[in-house]
Amino acid sequence: MELERRELGKTGLKVSCVGFGASPLGNVFGAVSPDEALAAVSRAISLGINFFDTSPYYGATLSETVLGNCLHQLGVPRDEIVISTKCGRYADGFDFSAERVTRSIEESLGRLRLDYVDILHCHDIEFGSLEQIVNETIPALQKLKEAGKTRFIGITGLPLEIFTYVLDRVPPGSVDVILSYCHYGINDSTLLDLLPYLKSKNVGVISASPLAMGLLTEDGPPDWHPASPELKSACRAAALYCKEEGQNISKLALQYSLMNKDISTMLVGMNSVVQVEDNVSAALELSGVGKHDVLLRRMETILEPVELLKRLIMPYLP
Ligand code: NAD
Repeated sequence: MELERRELGKTGLKVSCVGFGASPLGNVFGAVSPDEALAAVSRAISLGINFFDTSPYYGATLSETVLGNCLHQLGVPRDEIVISTKCGRYADGFDFSAERVTRSIEESLGRLRLDYVDILHCHDIEFGSLEQIVNETIPALQKLKEAGKTRFIGITGLPLEIFTYVLDRVPPGSVDVILSYCHYGINDSTLLDLLPYLKSKNVGVISASPLAMGLLTEDGPPDWHPASPELKSACRAAALYCKEEGQNISKLALQYSLMNKDISTMLVGMNSVVQVEDNVSAALELSGVGKHDVLLRRMETILEPVELLKRLIMPYLP
């Protein structure tokens, strides 16, 4: 059985339902050696993952450099992979000006060792002025699209309202995709409410962080994770429950996030061959055997009391 590919909005791109989130290659979730990174990217490609997402922000440009080196060493034909990177968010702060984002893509292409990216996102736009995104940043990205530096344009961020704000104000067709995170997983599925609107705007949907940035793993989240102690404790209880049932919380959480086919791809941060293999197997098991209904319902019950709370504690990441 092959890993499913889904159409990404009206872009004509077909992306693997599990996408490779490359922030861990910037050592965001702990140190990753060049060999481990190469092995993970290589295994991902051999198992059918064709979509890789990075940003100059991840590891202060390290993620882009490492991903670029891996793709170069593996000699992957350019038209067999879909690469997205971002602009406007950097280790030293935010800058969504036309001048900065125009310079940014050249720097990213150098690190990625590519002539173009498939998608260039404005990264975490809620931290900038949305008016500037509409009137300055998107028009600048449009010029980069015309110049062949990127094939498509996207916007990313946490609060869902930012997407409607921008899409209601830019000319139709000027934003091709959105990237939302932490809003289509077992502890938060609020992205679902926005899907009909996004479809009406012909915008493709990428979702990220099905493991809630490490919360829904047996090892738990990194120290910098912004979740409240209540949410962390509910997730620990859910992980324990899954373990007692002979299951892994990360597998169940990813399967939950893969169920809606209007979400073209689910970006999971991965930094090892084992994680790549586990995540692809989770997707294949879902396609073959189906979902674990009883376990998923029980997990939803365990996490339900923090349903409202979570929106209060994860509104804006540092
Ligand atoms: P995630 O929910 O995918 O969790 C990643 C963590 O889970 C890492 O520690 C990883 O090592 C671990 N993990 C992965 N597979 C596992 C498995 N099978 N078992 C146990 N642990 C496993 O969170 P994320 O990495 O933040 O998000 C995924 C990607 O989405 C990012 O790398 C990035 O590319 C993208 N993203 C973008 C934005 C944005 O644009 N604003 C925000 C968040 C994420």
